[in-house]
Amino acid sequence: MPLGFERRFERRVKRTIMEHGLINKDERIAVACSGGKDSAVMLHLLNKLGCKTEAVFIDLGMGSYTENSLKSAEELCAKEGVKLRKISLKKETGKTMPEIIKNSEKSGISPCVACGTLKRYILNKKSRELGADRIAMGHNLDDIAETVVISMITGKIELAMRIGPVTESYDKRMVSRIRPLFFSEDCDVLRYCRIARLPFFSGKCRYSSNALRPFVRKMIIQMEEKCPGAKKNIVSNFIKIKEKWKGSRPKLKSCMQCGEPSLKNLCRACRIINAAGIRS
Ligand code: SF4
Ligand code: ZN
Repeated sequence: MPLGFERRFERRVKRTIMEHGLINKDERIAVACSGGKDSAVMLHLLNKLGCKTEAVFIDLGMGSYTENSLKSAEELCAKEGVKLRKISLKKETGKTMPEIIKNSEKSGISPCVACGTLKRYILNKKSRELGADRIAMGHNLDDIAETVVISMITGKIELAMRIGPVTESYDKRMVSRIRPLFFSEDCDVLRYCRIARLPFFSGKCRYSSNALRPFVRKMIIQMEEKCPGAKKNIVSNFIKIKEKWKGSRPKLKSCMQCGEPSLKNLCRACRIINAAGIRS
């Protein structure tokens, strides 16, 4: 008898975890929990597999968007019986994300670059402090395909080279990242989320319409219509290229301002924070 959708979806995620060695026995997983469907499904499945999970929510201070996201994250964690750690960006940096964006835009830093950099920065720092062995990110196949295309368009190919089902840490201050939904399509994640009746918030952030990502998303949908399988091919061929790419990992320094690992003397998060006029 053919497996139903639910079982097939769960099997794909489990296979991603097993085949790519995402989680070792007894490892502690900090699950990046945004309140959206991807992190909801990821937390639910990691929990179902018996992993030691703890959810981390970053409060960006974006008004009702943050409030609704947090409400969903709280409902999900209560349903799953998982501890939720709330980290306030304002407490960490002195400003909310809209305040940071307002100032960093003047320096030519786009909202999503500022937001993405600071979220990764805080997530790494807090997960390390919590003693987590891995950070689980909810990126799905569609997100990955978009990131590959964006990295090609913007010429930031080295950013895409860090992407994979697992990004191993090569510096003890960096917690390795895992992406259990790496091979799961966005539409399947949504379908599973609804079947499993997981609470999630689907509202859009006010800055998302100006970002490059929605444009690339539409482009990939059109490609898929003309050439079915295009999305999966973008990701699988990128992985093949990446396997052949044996670039040496640069040694990380310590940021002269915050002490966190950094490629330059001043880390990217501190450059954004400084551009926003914080800690002056
Ligand atoms: Fe941050 Fe909004 Fe951009 Fe997402 S869309 S990275 S929440 S600014
Ligand atoms: Zn720094």
